[in-house]
Amino acid sequence: MIRCCSQFFALVVGLFATCSFLGGQTMPADTSVENQPLIILLGAPGSGKGTQATTIVKEFGVVHISTGDMFRENIKNQTAIGKKAKSFMDAGQLVPDEIVIDMLRERLQKPDSAKGALLDGFPRTLAQAEALETIIKGHYKPIVISLEVSDKTVMDRLTGRRSCPKCNAIYHVTFSPPKQEGICDACRTPIVIRSDDTEKTVKDRLSVFHKQIGPLKEYYAKQGLLEEINGEIGSTLTAQACVNAIKARLNKKD
Ligand SMILES: [Zn+2]
Repeated sequence: MIRCCSQFFALVVGLFATCSFLGGQTMPADTSVENQPLIILLGAPGSGKGTQATTIVKEFGVVHISTGDMFRENIKNQTAIGKKAKSFMDAGQLVPDEIVIDMLRERLQKPDSAKGALLDGFPRTLAQAEALETIIKGHYKPIVISLEVSDKTVMDRLTGRRSCPKCNAIYHVTFSPPKQEGICDACRTPIVIRSDDTEKTVKDRLSVFHKQIGPLKEYYAKQGLLEEINGEIGSTLTAQACVNAIKARLNKKD
């Protein structure tokens, strides 16, 4: 009889969890997801986020969620949210935060997110960070990694970048030049500066970044979630520092 009761109780709890899950208001009440890491990677353009994301994902077995990929996938699969997002994009408007949050909530409910996730490119603003908190609370343990690089380093890294318009190979005039100056090693096409990497564009991107990052870092620092990692000590050492910081936080009982 006691056994029956507990089974009934479990069923009710299960139903409740399913309802709130379908209602889309909270994450599934599944303890297996509870307190898995949600690693939020912050950093200026050119700070090495992509490289570090690859290392972290491999080391901790978490899923790499980039908002750009998420958008493309939803639009390609013509999901309800994808269609909504597309209507804003077609009208030349920014996709509202609620839509991004809805997409993210769905993405985090997929089975491959069960061991945790790494967010790349989100949140960018304080409002997004606050919205994110409402969907991860009690389910994921946020760890915020901020890759610190000076504006000068960003400028050197990005304005020195050259790309091949034919095969998309990437070079850098100082750090990884092609064998013959100005010519792609792979396909012999003259390499070019992408419009994103001109000095003027990089300056503009940095200025937007600085406006947004201050409040965002302050928000996470207040909650004791922020880890600032030096992004100018070479990618291997930076990766080691990121991994150590995440490990320390995962082992910490709080
Ligand atoms: Zn090429």
